[in-house]
Amino acid sequence: MSDIRRPEIKVAPPGAEAQKIIDKDRAHSSPSYIKEYPLVIDHGEGPWVHDVDGNVYLDMMAGIATNSTGHAHPAVVDAIKSAAEKFLHICGTDFYYQSFADLCERLAQLVPGMGPKKVFLTNSGSECLDGAIKLVRSHTRRRNIIAFRGAFHGRTLAAISLNASKVKYRKYFGPLIGGVYHTEYPPADIHRRDDDDDGRMYARRIETDIFQRLCAPDEVAAIMVEPILGEGGYVPPPKGFLQELRRICDTHGIMLVFDEVQSGMGRTGQMFACEHYGVYPDVLLSAKGIASGMPIGAIIAKSSVMTWETGTHGSTYGGNPVCCAAALATIDVIEGLLPQVRDVGEYLMAELRGLGRRYPVLADVRGVGLMIGAEFLTPEGKPAGDFVGKLEQLAFRKGLLLLGCGKSTIRFAPPLVFTREHVDAAIPILDACLAELCAEHGWPVHASEEAK
Ligand code: PMP
Repeated sequence: MSDIRRPEIKVAPPGAEAQKIIDKDRAHSSPSYIKEYPLVIDHGEGPWVHDVDGNVYLDMMAGIATNSTGHAHPAVVDAIKSAAEKFLHICGTDFYYQSFADLCERLAQLVPGMGPKKVFLTNSGSECLDGAIKLVRSHTRRRNIIAFRGAFHGRTLAAISLNASKVKYRKYFGPLIGGVYHTEYPPADIHRRDDDDDGRMYARRIETDIFQRLCAPDEVAAIMVEPILGEGGYVPPPKGFLQELRRICDTHGIMLVFDEVQSGMGRTGQMFACEHYGVYPDVLLSAKGIASGMPIGAIIAKSSVMTWETGTHGSTYGGNPVCCAAALATIDVIEGLLPQVRDVGEYLMAELRGLGRRYPVLADVRGVGLMIGAEFLTPEGKPAGDFVGKLEQLAFRKGLLLLGCGKSTIRFAPPLVFTREHVDAAIPILDACLAELCAEHGWPVHASEEAK
């Protein structure tokens, strides 16, 4: 294991080697790619990323909450190598192999509280969403889906039809799929009130608004929800919200689908976020952290719900043997990390709240395990989106990899191998960035935590 203790920036990024790659990429790749900052990775180890000019960064975003076991975890790399040496592809939709059967069994056992389950393996989170829409429609013979404002479910046409986090994901891409109704997700600051009744109220709007004005409950196939809002701002809702969604679904024969693509696979210190709430769906979607970054996802449904007929849904690559091996190895590693994720998550949140007392711009820290949102507001209480953009850039130049979400939130989603020592390496960098940016904006800074 690595003995690196802090980031090291030897050449201001992008260095000469990085710039060559960036220029080639820009010349030939789609302009729709975002490229948050000019990071050009050469290799990684655990939570450390080495760029092509020899700089070393501390990764607090894990390739959008995906490198769950850290970069190049030896157990995962070994599993990938052995699988690749045997065969690369045969197509799990049409033929059998050990790792495919093993992974389906493992996931069916791992997902809690739903009774007997069946598993469909995909290549991505978005493909899970598309498949889940087909599954719930065909199972219920109903066409409508209820989703939430703030939600992000992916980039395919069906997934963007459910998205309601940023208009750019939908603009000019219509007509989108029909039969989707959106309602409000509980607001980001609801955790401060810890008000279950308030949470229930957001769920009940489905009954008081959608079922009254827009579509009858017996025409609704599913409610699709992120049990903790991800790209929309890292928002953990009150328990009452998810409990009430479950009640509404049970009352009306509607499928409850949890999109745990971002919140699942140990990210919250439980294997799935729904375990914190004790509320279980009919269908659970998993991807991202499931195989440490190898492209695979899973639709895990009650056996009584996964009733589609032979040949109605499939995938050429879904459940690729190399990815299945990576997923099985990843799950083994994650299972051993869960207590650490809870401990380090609490520690990171406490440290971030400490920074928030010094820098009022860091207005709210919320989260579960290592799925932590830090929201930034201007002195007038407005979302400080530009500030967050500058913070990402500055932190990168000081060796810390961050990623935003929502209007003005940084999502802290480091690899699950993150330790308290890694937090101790990150906080002084954040501190320096906040000091510099607050001075630039003329925004208040308290001399010490006690000063406020
Ligand atoms: N659902 C959620 C909750 C996600 O966060 C994402 C990706 N950010 C997706 C679905 C889509 O996953 P993918 O990019 O693998 O298609």
